[in-house]
Amino acid sequence: ATPTAVMVGTGVGANNGVLIKGGDALERAQMVKYVIFDKTGTLTQGKASVTSAKVFTGMQRGEFLTLVASAEASSEHPLAKAVLAYARHFHFFDDSSATTENDVKSGWLFDVTDFSALPGRGVQCSIKGRHILVGNRMLMLENDIDISKEVENFVAELEQKAQTGILVSYDNILIGALGVADPLKREASVVIKGLQKMGVIPVMVTGDNWRTANAVAKEVGIQDVRAEVMPAGKADIVRSFQNDGSIVAMVGDGINDSPALAAADIGMAIGAGTDVAIEAANFVLMRNNLEDVITAIHLSRKTFDRIR
Ligand code: ADP
Ligand code: MG
Repeated sequence: ATPTAVMVGTGVGANNGVLIKGGDALERAQMVKYVIFDKTGTLTQGKASVTSAKVFTGMQRGEFLTLVASAEASSEHPLAKAVLAYARHFHFFDDSSATTENDVKSGWLFDVTDFSALPGRGVQCSIKGRHILVGNRMLMLENDIDISKEVENFVAELEQKAQTGILVSYDNILIGALGVADPLKREASVVIKGLQKMGVIPVMVTGDNWRTANAVAKEVGIQDVRAEVMPAGKADIVRSFQNDGSIVAMVGDGINDSPALAAADIGMAIGAGTDVAIEAANFVLMRNNLEDVITAIHLSRKTFDRIR
């Protein structure tokens, strides 16, 4: 294609909400063989909400929720925001305009010390001089927290429904769990089918657990799933698909996805995603609509005269 054609292609992309950074990525997109999708915030809406919460000890429900919310208050994770909103609603019966800052000022959250976020696992901190962990199974296993049959059953049931289970330990005892749902984007299944029709193989990669990942993949129609992947592992997965010379696109929105976006032949960031992801990508999907993954591939084929 001539430089003019690339310029025209880039302009057509911009008019359709697909920002293209550089003609090289536009040229590579026509030959893409695998499109690897992040789950949370990419295939799903990224608007998580708590569907259920269960206390497994004698602790009052209100105290349990305030403990969990206090631990999550310093986390940026979508799951943390869902927990805060749920606990706030329980506390005030109204979550209208409260912000984290107001929460602390109005004094309903407990004081937290020694907070740290553990990527791919959850958070930990101290409250009232006791250690609290909020996160997934792996976090509990690493800290030798015993998961009873009752807790395991509660979480497994959530995961079968494509929800994510959050476990909570306090003073080394598992005190409760919450279920969080994050619905698929409306266009997700249609886009997966469309890619398959074009001869492109969709793959899903996530830090979430296998059961939830498999349930979401089944719902959206993806056969190849990689779950319980630590942030650094996503880029390794991209490289493993490139091993035989295949052209690989990665679609993601999170800080966790940026190494994988950079490693891919074509990195596509969701416009509503984090700045780090947008910087690492070659394409930015400004409408946050997955149909634009297909738009971008078509545009490349058209620009480089490879319409099939
Ligand atoms: P993804 O790849 O789907 O975007 P992440 O790598 O961000 O997922 O997180 C992986 C898993 O780690 C989550 O599914 C959750 O179980 C756990 N996790 C991470 N951060 C938190 C948090 N702030 N609160 C609870 N759980 C968390
Ligand atoms: Mg994500």
